[in-house]
Amino acid sequence: MIGENLNRVKEKIFNKCSEVNRIPAEVKLIVVSKNFGAGHIKEAFAAGQIDFGENRPQELDGKAKLINENICWHFIGNLQRNKVKYVVKWADFIHSVNSLSLAEEINKRAEKLGKIQKVFVEVNTSNESTKLGLTDELEIETLVYKIEEMKNLKLTGLMTMAPFTDDKNKIRKSFKFLRMLKDKFVNNGVDLKHLSMGMSADYEIAIEEGATMLRIGSAIFGPRDYSKSWREL
Ligand SMILES: *Cc1c(COP(=O)(O)O)cnc(C)c1O
Repeated sequence: MIGENLNRVKEKIFNKCSEVNRIPAEVKLIVVSKNFGAGHIKEAFAAGQIDFGENRPQELDGKAKLINENICWHFIGNLQRNKVKYVVKWADFIHSVNSLSLAEEINKRAEKLGKIQKVFVEVNTSNESTKLGLTDELEIETLVYKIEEMKNLKLTGLMTMAPFTDDKNKIRKSFKFLRMLKDKFVNNGVDLKHLSMGMSADYEIAIEEGATMLRIGSAIFGPRDYSKSWREL
């Protein structure tokens, strides 16, 4: 089941890339395993999936300790400073950096571990107050330049979540804005490679708008059951 879903999603990504003249190898699939058990991750790994996304620090820590496979972990959720230690230990990429104090804490922790932590700045492109990320362009700019100066951080891109809506134009607008921001930074000499955008419901639009990392969960693992803990699933 997981293997079939994975193949179906990969085929859709491939087809969309062909349609819009993009190179499939430049669009990475991150399988979001939040709220699913370690067994699900192992099964997807056996089917060839290496990149996984988690959104809770202790859940990432718990799973990473249970899984011996050589997984590339992406942290994509809200991160409080006192939880940074659980994340920097495991995550190859942190997608959700949305304040200077958080960036400083990650930098400090990465230095202790002798690691260069790859990070994304999270942008709120939907103006939904429930979503995390920065909205103010000047604030985003300040954070980007501050991160560039931090020795143990490597800024790799920008991340966003589209608004929760069926209105494809609104979703597209959100992705376009992130792309525009990235292009602006690149034109000013900032080394930003990635656009982390697109989830199960909107990843095809995200590919059209330039996404290089897709974060897809339910299209592969099915709907999440939040009444259960990942340890039971
Ligand atoms: C849960 C989550 C996803 C994946 O959502 P699906 O709809 O299951 O594909 C992507 N990004 C973030 C930040 C998430 O929290």
